[in-house]
Amino acid sequence: MPEIPDLEAIRGFLAPRLQGNPVVRTDVRYPWLIRSEDKLETLVGHVLGPVRRHGKFLLVAVDDGRELVVNPMLTGRFHWATASDRKRPGTCVLFAFEDGHELRYSDARRMGRWYLVGASQLDLIPQWSSLGPDALAMTEDEFLAGLKRHRGQAKNVLTNQEFIAGIGNAYSDEILWEARVHPHRRVATLDEEQRRGLYRAMHAVFDWARPILEAEVAEGLYQRNEEWRDHLRVHRKADEPCPRCGAPIKAQVQSSRETDYCLTCQPLDL
Ligand SMILES: [Zn+2]
Repeated sequence: MPEIPDLEAIRGFLAPRLQGNPVVRTDVRYPWLIRSEDKLETLVGHVLGPVRRHGKFLLVAVDDGRELVVNPMLTGRFHWATASDRKRPGTCVLFAFEDGHELRYSDARRMGRWYLVGASQLDLIPQWSSLGPDALAMTEDEFLAGLKRHRGQAKNVLTNQEFIAGIGNAYSDEILWEARVHPHRRVATLDEEQRRGLYRAMHAVFDWARPILEAEVAEGLYQRNEEWRDHLRVHRKADEPCPRCGAPIKAQVQSSRETDYCLTCQPLDL
């Protein structure tokens, strides 16, 4: 599932290309992906504006005050193409622009969700109103204050979208590894320095991942690696050596969610 670094790379790629580019045609192969009353075809003739992100949602402003909102969920993938480029398998939403480009969206499991709503209607989007502040918009003090209200395990707290929006299963593992905090460590037992360390590790991981993902999307958004995850240091790297200490990465799978960590760098009994 795309998380902040992935979606930021997509946002950065799309922003200059969508801005001021009139929509000339839309094509939706699976209408149920569009969860709003307004259908995408009402975008034809309109110009798209700035692209922003909140948590795991991408939002594109429309020149009439509406916003086009997408949550790509597990398998949503974007492709910036020209009309003559071969369509990728599973392409199910397409926007054609006046400059001859197309924004195509494929979704193998068709779990992604699209909405076209007035800017004041964002709360109609499921889960939107309960979203906490975006992780990139949160200051260190806000992070610390929010953390005080949580007593659960570090991984669960970092992926709790009501506390902090935009971190998922993969990057929570990376952040905890960077911060040397065990995923099952209860956040209530972390001292202030460790809490600050968690916040700083989050930014360190995002800063580290940014250029890698920007390079990954530079050829037209479509990811060569379906999971966008080859570069990660611990997530889905079970039994590979920890890049810091060389000990084998440990994996735990719980209700199909994999958690990976280094028991040497991230001991539980600190
Ligand atoms: Zn290690």
